[in-house]
Amino acid sequence: MAIQQKLSLMIPGPTPVPERVLEALGRHPIGHRSKEFQDLVEITTKNLKWLHQTENDVLTITGSGTAAMEAGIINTLSKGDKVICGENGKFGQRWVKVAQEFGLEVIKIESEWGTPLNPENFKTILEKDEKKEIKAVILTHSETSTGVINDLKSISSHIRNHEKALSIIDCVTSIGACSVPVDEWDLDIVASGSQKGYMIPPGLSFVSMSQKAWKASEESNLPKFYLNLKSYKKNLINNSNPYTPAVNLVFALDEALKMMKDEGFNSIFKRHRKHKLAVSEAAKALNLKLFADEKHLSPSVTAIKTDNIDAEEFRKKIKNKYDILLAGGQDHLKGKIIRVGHLGYINDRDIISVIAAIGNTLVELNEISADLVGEALKVASFHLKEI
Ligand SMILES: *Cc1c(COP(=O)(O)O)cnc(C)c1O
Repeated sequence: MAIQQKLSLMIPGPTPVPERVLEALGRHPIGHRSKEFQDLVEITTKNLKWLHQTENDVLTITGSGTAAMEAGIINTLSKGDKVICGENGKFGQRWVKVAQEFGLEVIKIESEWGTPLNPENFKTILEKDEKKEIKAVILTHSETSTGVINDLKSISSHIRNHEKALSIIDCVTSIGACSVPVDEWDLDIVASGSQKGYMIPPGLSFVSMSQKAWKASEESNLPKFYLNLKSYKKNLINNSNPYTPAVNLVFALDEALKMMKDEGFNSIFKRHRKHKLAVSEAAKALNLKLFADEKHLSPSVTAIKTDNIDAEEFRKKIKNKYDILLAGGQDHLKGKIIRVGHLGYINDRDIISVIAAIGNTLVELNEISADLVGEALKVASFHLKEI
């Protein structure tokens, strides 16, 4: 049993937090109107822009990732506006619900869970919209519920060609895991959250806003107060916030962004890529099947089918014996898949451990012979070498 409480979080959020970041969190809070705090906001804002590869404003909101997405939607759109929502998983579904809740007219572009959205479907609908009635395209880059990454680069090029529609993108599990070049892809609104690739606890979310998005915000009539991004922008000029921010999480953000800058994009993205390959290839070596289309695997989470084994029981065994927390399936996938998070502060040791834990548990359940565990570790080690 887990008597030492040395739990490894291998879920797609919250993700593990480095010691340096934990120490920053443990400091005494400071006044959020102090010069010291303003200096901090100046640095974190600069580094957030670096992470987003953008000159756009990147605003920090005290709230979870959903707050950032909701902010993007309610600040730029108006009641009755027509929007396209891409839906191929649980998060895609959530943005449909948010859009409908605010009285938007949703055109859904769907794809079966486990498969990516087809960029051609976006192209077709956007090209047909000659009257430019579609005001936004809302979608999830890395669909955490299924482990699929959508082809945001292609889809965003079709949105750009439409000229009128804004892109409102959930990059919650792609920012910090793979390159999201906001300016190069012309992404108008990009939302993310602290408990994912940022390596800090839940509580902060981020939203980047293009000039086009700010222009649209002038006409937006949806109700908003706490999430009115104009107040955040106005205050950011003085490196300040409209309301009391989670001061200690901003300490943590500063530390985590510095760690990311030290590691560098190249190394961060390669690390996520090799961990994705190691986990997915090792799972296959253990005779397990991947849930997501293999050509579109998310860099941050791998969904694995457990076939005749109850995935929830399987997860419980791994938690009890190995102190590794894995995620289960959501909705109709509950009990059918496990999801291994390899996002943020994850190293090769975590990957080797989780593969061994999954393999040994399969052996214990008489699903595979013990030599397959060795095989899987060999396969994983091969991919881990790549850097
Ligand atoms: C975690 C996550 C979110 C944000 O969820 P919150 O619980 O609001 O932080 C949004 N989209 C995706 C794809 C996620 O993985």
